[in-house]
Amino acid sequence: MDKSVIFPAYLEYCLEFANTADWHASEQPVETLHSYADLVAWSQRIGILTSGSAEELNQQAARFPLDATTFLGQAIELREAIYRIFRAVTAAQSPDVADLEILNARLPATYSHLQIVQSGDHFAWGWRDEEPQLDRLLWPVVRSAADLLTFSELNRVKQCADDRGCGYFFIDTTRNHSRRWCTMESCGNRAKARRHYARQRDDA
Ligand SMILES: [Zn+2]
Repeated sequence: MDKSVIFPAYLEYCLEFANTADWHASEQPVETLHSYADLVAWSQRIGILTSGSAEELNQQAARFPLDATTFLGQAIELREAIYRIFRAVTAAQSPDVADLEILNARLPATYSHLQIVQSGDHFAWGWRDEEPQLDRLLWPVVRSAADLLTFSELNRVKQCADDRGCGYFFIDTTRNHSRRWCTMESCGNRAKARRHYARQRDDA
């Protein structure tokens, strides 16, 4: 596959977050985030948190279990807003104003933690996170949603074409915008097998 377009990896955080519900485009999405610890584990897996900060946040959640539960609800509300926004975008429709508002409401808390850090001979954006804060793991997600929505190649964001309602989002980096499936291994091969079967049936 021709990977001709380079996207900063962090732009995908928001899509990965939307993908934390399986079968999101079906009638019965399957939730994968059942606790604050699930959120932490997911953030660590995709590279938002180091193991050290993941540990800190889990300890913070253990100290304030009610806050952690409330935050999980807010995180899922944000995820659903992000999901609906990108679903609209990939369908060439306008997102709901209420969904944009849910995202916009998170911007001040997110951007107030950004800072410039020096690393060797260059500078980069970093997060000011001396104190463990439960919403720390959403900052990179919110920033990625804001930056991806304003990215010049937003049209490369796609939703898996699977007809069962896989619903996964991905960034199509192929030169000719030809990618249709989240992965060939799951949805892609199934679609290919179905086409093959349909052809055989037509021939018969
Ligand atoms: Zn899929």
